[in-house]
Amino acid sequence: MSTHMKRTAGLDFIRQIAADDLASGKHKTVITRFPPEPNGYLHIGHAKSITLNFGLASEIPGGQCHLRFDDSNPETEDMEYVEAIKRDVKWLGFDWDKHLYFASDYFEKLYGFAVSLIEANKAYVCSLSEEEIRKYRGTVTQPGTDSPYRNRTAAENLDLFERMRSGEFADGKHVLRAKIDMAAPNMKMRDPLLYRIRHAPHYRTGNTWCIYPMYDFTHCLSDAMEGITHSLCTLEFENNRALYEWIIDNVPGPFKPRQIEFARLNLNYTVMSKRKLVELVEGGHVSGWDDPRLPTIAGLRRRGVTPESIRSFCDRIGVARANSVVDMALLENSIRDDLNLKAPRVMGVLDPLKVVILNYPEDRDEELDAPYFPDDPPKMGYRKVPFSRELYIERRDFMEDPPKKFFRLAPGREVRLRWAYFITCVDVKKNEQGEVVELHCNYDPQTRGGDSPDGRRVKGTIHWVSASHAVPAQVRLYDRLFAEPMPDSGKDSDFIQHINPHSLDIVDAVVERSLCDAMPGGYFFTDPEDHTAGSPVFNRIVPLRDSWAKVAGKSK
Ligand code: ATP
Ligand code: MG
Repeated sequence: MSTHMKRTAGLDFIRQIAADDLASGKHKTVITRFPPEPNGYLHIGHAKSITLNFGLASEIPGGQCHLRFDDSNPETEDMEYVEAIKRDVKWLGFDWDKHLYFASDYFEKLYGFAVSLIEANKAYVCSLSEEEIRKYRGTVTQPGTDSPYRNRTAAENLDLFERMRSGEFADGKHVLRAKIDMAAPNMKMRDPLLYRIRHAPHYRTGNTWCIYPMYDFTHCLSDAMEGITHSLCTLEFENNRALYEWIIDNVPGPFKPRQIEFARLNLNYTVMSKRKLVELVEGGHVSGWDDPRLPTIAGLRRRGVTPESIRSFCDRIGVARANSVVDMALLENSIRDDLNLKAPRVMGVLDPLKVVILNYPEDRDEELDAPYFPDDPPKMGYRKVPFSRELYIERRDFMEDPPKKFFRLAPGREVRLRWAYFITCVDVKKNEQGEVVELHCNYDPQTRGGDSPDGRRVKGTIHWVSASHAVPAQVRLYDRLFAEPMPDSGKDSDFIQHINPHSLDIVDAVVERSLCDAMPGGYFFTDPEDHTAGSPVFNRIVPLRDSWAKVAGKSK
C-alpha cells in the first residue's frame, strides 16, 4: 500500500495506541479491517472509518487493512452492494491488496466455534419465543431471569443445534445463546443470542444455511481469524466490547484482537443512516444511490468531488472519542480548497442576459487569450475565447438602480469583461412586463485583454460568453439536501418533509466552447451519466461560499 496519505495532524488516540503497541513489542505491525455490511452504498461516514483503518495501516511498515464484508444477514445483502463498495473504496484511493474477505466464507468455521462453546457448556439452545426472551432479559435496573432451557446438557444442545442447521425447525423456534450471566449489569452479557434460524437464501451461500450467526459472534471471530490487531469501531459498540472479549476468550485460538471505539461522523444538513438513505432512494426523493445530493461516495463522485478532498476532510475532522456534529460547511470548504488548486477557470453564464456592443462591427469576431489559472497562468496555459458583438452576461451582474456597494454593470457604468474589454452600459431594453431583456453597451477598443492604456480603473469585472459561439448547456445546481440542520431529529420518516426544495435547481445556461472539449469543467463537472457532446449537462460541484452562513445568519 502506498504512503500517499500524508497526514497533517499529530497522533490521535488510536494511532497513539498503535504506536505504543509497536513500542512495547505487543505487535510487530498493525492489521486493521474495514467491515461494511453489503446492504447499501457507502457514505461519507464510512469514509471516516475507511481513511482511519486504511490510513493507519498504510503508515506502519508491514501494515495492512483488510476489506471484509460482514455479510451474515441473508435478508438485506446483495452483490450489487459488494461491487459498489469495492469501487468506492478503490476510488477513495485505498487498496486491500489480497485481503478481501467475506464473513460468509467463515460460516463453517463459525459453526465449529459454536459447537466448541456448547461442548464447554458455554452456550445452549434456548426455545423461548422472541417475546419471552425479551421479557426474561430484565431491564437496566432489574436483573434478568434464567431461561428454563439454560441447563440443557451439552449432548442435548449439540443435537438440537445440529438439527437447527439441518432445517428441521421453523424460524424463531430455537436460538443458540451464550451462557454468561442473566444478572450482568451490562445487558449485552445477559446470555446474548449467537445464532438464529432464518430460512432465507443468502446472496453468496444460497440455501446452504438456514441458521445464521449474529453480528456479535461473527465480528470478533472474523477479526481473530484474520489476525486483526486493532479492531476499530464506532462508539455505539462500546457495550459490545465485553461480549467481543468474552467470545474470543472462550473459543480455542490464540489470537486476541483489541476493539477500540471512536466517535462516528455526524454531519448536519444530511442523513447517513442506511435505512434513511434507502427511504430516500426507494421513495424517489432522489434519483438513485449516486444522486449528487446524497452523502454517498457514489453521489459525491458523480457531483465532481475528488477523493483528495474527501480524504482531506477526514484528516481535518480527526479521530476522537467524543461524539459531535460536524458542520456541512467544513466538507464544502474541503471541496472548495481542493478545487481551488485544481479547477481550471472557464466561463459559463447560468442566467443569461443579452448584451449588444453597439460600436463593435456586426461582421467581426476575434479570439482572446484567457488563462486557465489566473493566479498561475503557466500551470495550464491559455485558451482562446471568442468575442463578438453580442454576448451574454449573468443577469445578476447588472442592476438598474444599484445600491452603494454594487460594483458591477449599471446604466452609465463602465466594467471590465474578463480577459476582453471595458464596456459601458448606454441603454436598457425592457419587455412589456418591465423586465430587462437586453443591454446596449459601447466598448473601448483600447482596452483589449482587459487593461486600460491610460490607467483608467473600473471596479467590477464580470464574466461573459459570446452569444453566437455559446454552447447551451443544462446546469444542475446542487445544494444541501435538507433545509434543516438536524433533519432526522424527529420521528421515523419526518426527515422527508425537511428536504430542501432548492436542493436541485436546473438551469439553461450557456458555456464557453472549451468546456465541452475533453476538459475538466472547473467548478462544474460533466455529469458522468447524462452528459453528451450534443447536449451538455454539468453539475455544480459545490454551492457558493457561505451562502448557507448568510441564510443561517438571517434566520437568527
Ligand atoms: P447503518 O447503521 O446506517 O446501517 P452501519 O454502521 O451499520 O450503517 P456498516 O456497513 O456496518 O454500516 O459500516 C461499516 C463500518 O463503517 C463500521 O465499522 C462502522 O462503524 C463504520 N461507520 C458507519 N457509519 C459511520 C460513521 N457515520 N462514522 C464513522 N464510521 C462509520
Ligand atoms: Mg452495521
